[in-house]
Amino acid sequence: MEIGSKFALLNVSVVDGKGGWPEENKAVIVKDGIIHWIGHMKDYKKEDGVQEVSLDGFYVMPGMIDAHVHLAGGRGDMEYQEMEVIAENKLVRAMRSVYEAQAVLKRGFTSVRDISWNGLYLKRIFGDNTLPGPRVIACGPGLSRTGGHADLYQYTEDYVRENGFWSIIADGPEEIRKAVRRVLREGADQVKIWASGGDNWPNDRSCDVHYSMEEIVMCVEEAHRQEGTFVCAHAENRESISMCVDAGVDTIEHGEDLDEELAVRMAKKGVILVPTLALVVNWHKDFVPTGDAAPKKIRPDVFLHRDVPPSDEDGEFESQRAKESFQLAVEKGVKIALGSDTVYEPLTKCGEYSAREFKALVECGLTVPQAIRAATMGSAEALNMSHKIGTVEVGKEADLLVVRKDPTKSTDVLYNAENIYLTFIKGRLTVEDGRFVW
Ligand SMILES: [Zn+2]
Repeated sequence: MEIGSKFALLNVSVVDGKGGWPEENKAVIVKDGIIHWIGHMKDYKKEDGVQEVSLDGFYVMPGMIDAHVHLAGGRGDMEYQEMEVIAENKLVRAMRSVYEAQAVLKRGFTSVRDISWNGLYLKRIFGDNTLPGPRVIACGPGLSRTGGHADLYQYTEDYVRENGFWSIIADGPEEIRKAVRRVLREGADQVKIWASGGDNWPNDRSCDVHYSMEEIVMCVEEAHRQEGTFVCAHAENRESISMCVDAGVDTIEHGEDLDEELAVRMAKKGVILVPTLALVVNWHKDFVPTGDAAPKKIRPDVFLHRDVPPSDEDGEFESQRAKESFQLAVEKGVKIALGSDTVYEPLTKCGEYSAREFKALVECGLTVPQAIRAATMGSAEALNMSHKIGTVEVGKEADLLVVRKDPTKSTDVLYNAENIYLTFIKGRLTVEDGRFVW
């Protein structure tokens, strides 16, 4: 289909992204990338130079947003995850991250917030229309302490500092200050910090706090000095979440250990939760195969005396705790955004995993319209882009999906990419039935 820069989508039902049900018999006029007019068909007036696209029976909604991906370009199986991805040629990895971003776009996600070096440059090549791809809100590499979540312990310190593709190792306030300034210099929109561990390896435990208050405060101060720059913090235990909230962090990633007081404090301060539910609720089922399928131990045994081997029972307990923590957040009015933590294949298949997170939001307690709100308006807030994208509203940039069935009926509708007919980014038709229009 050829669609110019001025067009009207006619006879559509509109799902605006604010959490409501579809409104029927609508027309949406887009001019030069901006939503110009939305109204009932009976009030629609044909304008010269505006191309009419009749879409009887179709639904128009905001493009979805995945607020937590690592466009890392890596491939690894369970046994050699970090080994394979870190030791790979950087250019191959960078080129493959283009495919990863495009795969996410093809599932109806028109924007992503990325944590990796690659995102800083993907942002440029998609942003200037060199290649079709989603908008990339780039954090650049995140900040990890020595021995933290991103300090891949299988390698020497020097090797990780030189080759870490999603992190900068920084210790103490002054190194944090420098690291924040480095990523901002390179064009980062936000700053990511691993405030707690994350179970990447035995001494990287999610129950441990990894950065001091002084370090987290420095990160927030330096980032906020450049106005509009959000800080997103990986925080998986109550103490680290609480420290981040008090330090002025803008979004909490994972955050599966809330109690009532903390949820209320988050809601009051407007801190957004990116719960990564597909990951934290299903990790033990999806990624920790047992028996014959169990990964071979590649980690030196010396680390294992502090590791509790995962069992089905532990997994089930953690999963239930994460679900309850999420439900508490929703109940207390914490803002929710969709973030999948897509990192590399085949572990978290690009695009598929974003769509999977959309389903998980409903499996863990949201209604479908609430999940759509999280995936659109909520995530736009996490990107600090809600003034431009995330809803179908006059004056917003036209990142839109045209969907064949009612997306508020069931998460299966958006999960099934065949239901996504057209995808617009800034008013430009970019994907038609899974193929790039370019
Ligand atoms: Zn992540």
